[in-house]
Amino acid sequence: MRIFIVSILISLMGLVCQAQEYTRQDSLRGSITSEREWWDVSYYHLDIAVNVEKQTVQGSNTIRYKVLKPNQLMQVDLQPPMEIINITQDGEELKLRRDGNAYFVQLEKKQIADSYNEIIVLYGGKPKVAPRPPWDSGLVWEKDSLDKDFISSISWGANSSLWWPCKDQMYDEVDSLKFSINVRKDLVAVGNGRLLGVDKKKNNTKTYHWTVSNPINIYSVNFNIGNYTNFAEVYNGEKGALDCTYYVLKQDLKKAKEQFKQVPLMLEAFEYWFGPYPFYEDSYKLIDVPYSGMEHQSAITYGNGYQNGYRGNDASNTGWGDKFDFIIIHESGHEWFANNITFKDVADIWIHESFTTYSEGLFVEYHYGKEAGDDYQIGLRGRIENDRAMIGDYHVNDLNYTGDNYPKGATILHMLRQIVNDDEKWRGVLRGLGSEFYHQTVTTEQIENYIAEELELDLDIFWDQYLRTTQIPVFEYYYAKGKLSYKWTNALEDFTMPLKIEVNGKEKWIYPKTDWQKMDINSEELTLKVDRNFYVPAFFSNSN
Ligand SMILES: [Zn+2]
Repeated sequence: MRIFIVSILISLMGLVCQAQEYTRQDSLRGSITSEREWWDVSYYHLDIAVNVEKQTVQGSNTIRYKVLKPNQLMQVDLQPPMEIINITQDGEELKLRRDGNAYFVQLEKKQIADSYNEIIVLYGGKPKVAPRPPWDSGLVWEKDSLDKDFISSISWGANSSLWWPCKDQMYDEVDSLKFSINVRKDLVAVGNGRLLGVDKKKNNTKTYHWTVSNPINIYSVNFNIGNYTNFAEVYNGEKGALDCTYYVLKQDLKKAKEQFKQVPLMLEAFEYWFGPYPFYEDSYKLIDVPYSGMEHQSAITYGNGYQNGYRGNDASNTGWGDKFDFIIIHESGHEWFANNITFKDVADIWIHESFTTYSEGLFVEYHYGKEAGDDYQIGLRGRIENDRAMIGDYHVNDLNYTGDNYPKGATILHMLRQIVNDDEKWRGVLRGLGSEFYHQTVTTEQIENYIAEELELDLDIFWDQYLRTTQIPVFEYYYAKGKLSYKWTNALEDFTMPLKIEVNGKEKWIYPKTDWQKMDINSEELTLKVDRNFYVPAFFSNSN
């Protein structure tokens, strides 16, 4: 997801951030409740009819699950004004109790560990309209430039349950999914994964059946309806032939064919840096939508107006951001970080946004060279606010996260690469993340530990400093009697980090700590520059 507006909003909410209060509903959504933890969702068949005129969604979701340990009470999420009509298991209707956005289902059949069971949830209603997609979720009912219906669902922020009943939690990804969408016959409905077929109905409607064969994060499940045409190509990538299909409005076909030439360039760069595209089986898709875009797995939604930058703006202010279509590059980068490797808790959203923002600069580097990539990464610093630590509050669906998860996260990854000082090793770690955590949900600690172990570095204090505080360490130094003295200030007590500097024109690695270190300089004078790839302010103190 993208974030300029979020960061402005978060700045405005500065004081609110300090005193975040959470409700029982936040815990029900954001934690692994006892009514969730005993079952592992294995399959959904979401089967819905979308009535464009009435702006309603109704249908059913068949939920297949594995019993991990016996329990008779199950949490299913669906937010008002949507309502569950009934839930059945083996043909028997079950008792339900509603608590705000969650339903608690009393199961009659004995739930035996390791067995698989199904419930069928019948539901319907008029879902909330998204006030500000994609940041505020819901349904988008728009018209395109030819006045044809143009509709999308947005579920960011544990809001899938705004329009369909599900386990609205990130830690437990469904293993596979079938998604059937019934709509007026003059429109086309596009979901995630591959199109299985289209049924013509007698009531002037059609049903589009889509299937996803890989684990998918819950907010990625989405549908899009419009006056679509499509075109396709095959990309020959690291795992063979990757089907790429593009659903665009008929009037935009020509523009799309030109702009989407960036897709193979994106795939080439990201497979180089991160390893194979993670969902060959489900294909790659771009789908035109009436909002900016979102990283929906195997169904990236695109609304950038067929122009480069983010709606024409360069996120880095260096000129390099004008060389590519921000939504194609950024949202597709999320296929590796968000969809392949997925946070268990939104408190760890940096895993999605830092690596994906970092991927933008790697795209620039792959196609325009290392200096261009460095320029881009350094340019992103202009957006850092240091308003709140990047890691948020756990178990409460903490959506009040800082926009720093984007530029600051990318910036510290770029800095870590400098510390490693071995580009092949660094690329090996980036690719290794994709295979180590293939199709998994993860915690920050898993990512921190994996990177540190692979790099054979102790990074505990590095992660703590940059992910868990808003302090940015300052390199303080002075020069007297031929000796350079230096240390870290504005840092955690034991903070230490290697630093590349230029002293009197010569490159040097130094190892500052939070107490003074000294170095002999055989010169009357000193000129000192911190390497530009380090996000380190320098402070010359002559008072010492
Ligand atoms: Zn994003």
